[in-house]
Amino acid sequence: MQYLSTRGDATPKSFSEILLAGLAPDGGLYLPQQYPQVTKAELAAWRGLPYAELAFEIIRKFATDIPPADLRAITARTYTEQVYRTPAITPLKTLEPGLHILELSNGPTLAFKDMAMQLLGNLFEYVLTRAGQELNILGATSGDTGSSAEYAMRGKHGIRVFMLSPYGKMSAFQTAQMFSLQDPNIFNLAVRGVFDDCQDIVKAVSNDHAFKARQKIGTVNSINWARVVAQVVYYFRGYFAATRSDDEVVSFAVPSGNFGNICAGHIARQMGLPIRRLVLATNENDVLDEFFRTGVYRVRASAETFHTSSPSMDISKASNFERFIFDLCGRDAAQVRALWQQLEREGSFSLAGTPLFAEVGTRYGFVSGRSTHADRLDTIRTTEAQYGVIIDTHTADGLKVALEQREAGVPMIVLETALPAKFEETLVEALGRKPPRPQGYADLETLPQRFEVMDADAEQIKRFIAAHTGL
Ligand SMILES: *Cc1c(COP(=O)(O)O)cnc(C)c1O
Repeated sequence: MQYLSTRGDATPKSFSEILLAGLAPDGGLYLPQQYPQVTKAELAAWRGLPYAELAFEIIRKFATDIPPADLRAITARTYTEQVYRTPAITPLKTLEPGLHILELSNGPTLAFKDMAMQLLGNLFEYVLTRAGQELNILGATSGDTGSSAEYAMRGKHGIRVFMLSPYGKMSAFQTAQMFSLQDPNIFNLAVRGVFDDCQDIVKAVSNDHAFKARQKIGTVNSINWARVVAQVVYYFRGYFAATRSDDEVVSFAVPSGNFGNICAGHIARQMGLPIRRLVLATNENDVLDEFFRTGVYRVRASAETFHTSSPSMDISKASNFERFIFDLCGRDAAQVRALWQQLEREGSFSLAGTPLFAEVGTRYGFVSGRSTHADRLDTIRTTEAQYGVIIDTHTADGLKVALEQREAGVPMIVLETALPAKFEETLVEALGRKPPRPQGYADLETLPQRFEVMDADAEQIKRFIAAHTGL
């Protein structure tokens, strides 16, 4: 299978070739030339598979240039009870008949990003070892992505991680989660500044093309194609867990930010998984809810981007959204290019009133809604009172919108994107007590920490990287 760019101007590449790449050279995002179709016989055969085997069957359709035996070993090593603390990997929790939560947050950092990032760590190590190469991952984080990347890459051959975070600005739990890692290939750089300073430094270092090439700098951001593919697997798993036969349909509700998670749902649906609705939920940062309600996609300025109690959904634009628009436009790259040029010029584009926009719901099954801080508190309280289940703030955004979009006779599966233990402060506000912590996390904040405090100075960061790669 070959991959092309949503902007239509990149030479087709294989899965392994785009694995370590970010944007395509023409500024677009990579997508497979066509989505593999799942047959009725495959669907029936996959229903009973353990998670790692199901992951192998699905990912092999996309990663056709990795020998099947190697890929099978990689998924077997990735999706283990040891890493995910449960043999089911993604158990389905039923709140009431027809209303479920798919647990995606049992990995090491207690958020769903581990589902894809753990696979990425093993895939990276595999292709780098095969090619005799090394990679230095540079990133900026305000919490979730950085820790997930570090836990996926720790101890991996040929890989180092340099992760910038705003010094003193993350929660005690998030800080401890990252800084307690003692692996010699993980470098936590605590920058005197805010998250935007960290991001600016990553951009400045990446724009120094000579330095970037010499130091073999790469990233693991949410547009990475392998991350999206890994996420396709749990839509199948969730479907099998919530149904008895392949004649049934289900809907999924997805707490969304950069559109990576729900993009995987869209792809599962395009492959033939019987998904009725894809319910997109945002918080007060409602760029995507606005689009799915009105057809207007308007990116927000920093001043318009709110810090909310579901912080991992605080986005000003959705970096994976272009993948869906490409499909919506009938894979017409010229049209995508024109829309993104307009976006650059005017900060927005509109499909309102067009036949294309009508298809968003009718043909692709998307509906949406938004949730506020008050809604989150209310949903967390109600869920605890009615079902005895404690959910986190992001999952609460998903459940709130799921209940608005639920249809009689169609099971609704809400994706759980984090555990409540990660967001203690808001949980205390909602319930008056701290949420439970999984075993092994009780004393996280008391573990010894390893990090370097640095100024918000790209040159200083570059010197640090060069000194530690020896390149
Ligand atoms: C990253 C994240 C999201 C948003 O996922 P996208 O793929 O960016 O849409 C939602 N919830 C949590 C807890 C996250 O970490």
